[in-house]
Amino acid sequence: MLNIVIFGAPGSGKGTQSDFIVEKYGLTHLSTGDLLRAEIKAQSAIGKKAQVLIDAGNLVPDSLIIELLEKKILETPDSPGFIFDGFPRTVAQAEVLDSFLKEHQTKVSIMLNLHVDEQTLIDRLLNRGKTSGRADDNLETIQKRLNVYKTKTLPVLDYYRSSDRATTVDNNSTVEACFEHIVQAIQTVK
Ligand code: AMP
Repeated sequence: MLNIVIFGAPGSGKGTQSDFIVEKYGLTHLSTGDLLRAEIKAQSAIGKKAQVLIDAGNLVPDSLIIELLEKKILETPDSPGFIFDGFPRTVAQAEVLDSFLKEHQTKVSIMLNLHVDEQTLIDRLLNRGKTSGRADDNLETIQKRLNVYKTKTLPVLDYYRSSDRATTVDNNSTVEACFEHIVQAIQTVK
């Protein structure tokens, strides 16, 4: 199994690169942001709880995210592997993911850390906000999300670095150049 964590700040291109990876390697794409937005659309109990937090740029509680994600993984038992996008966002989530995958005799093969300069992130998110319809793609919430990323999510990078699974890929230029580097990185663990 090939399991990839795609990591990076909001607006770093995780969704776009995930689509390319899925196309090339046939993995199952699990985006916790997309899963939450589907719950919000369905107006489920989880969705209602998550909406207030997401709109304010805060994280959703670990327990809720983990429940949602584990359910999805178990729904696709024949998958050749998963790409985790927007997850883990806390060290606690990373630890739970490791033990969950271990229980299923598999592991995170590689963590791809997409690096983008902060001003470029803000410009890209503001630009996305013009068409995304996402209430959290406005300047105030973007700044809040970037703060949450630095304080709560960035330690996840050290977590994977300490077990030698993290690879940083620059995504300041084109999507194609970034994907080329991603493919090279994936070849090292395939
Ligand atoms: P994203 O689409 O990945 O940018 O996620 C949008 C929002 O959903 C985030 O700003 C968080 O509020 C929430 N969210 C997504 N994934 C997670 C996660 N793994 N842990 C906590 N909150 C999350």
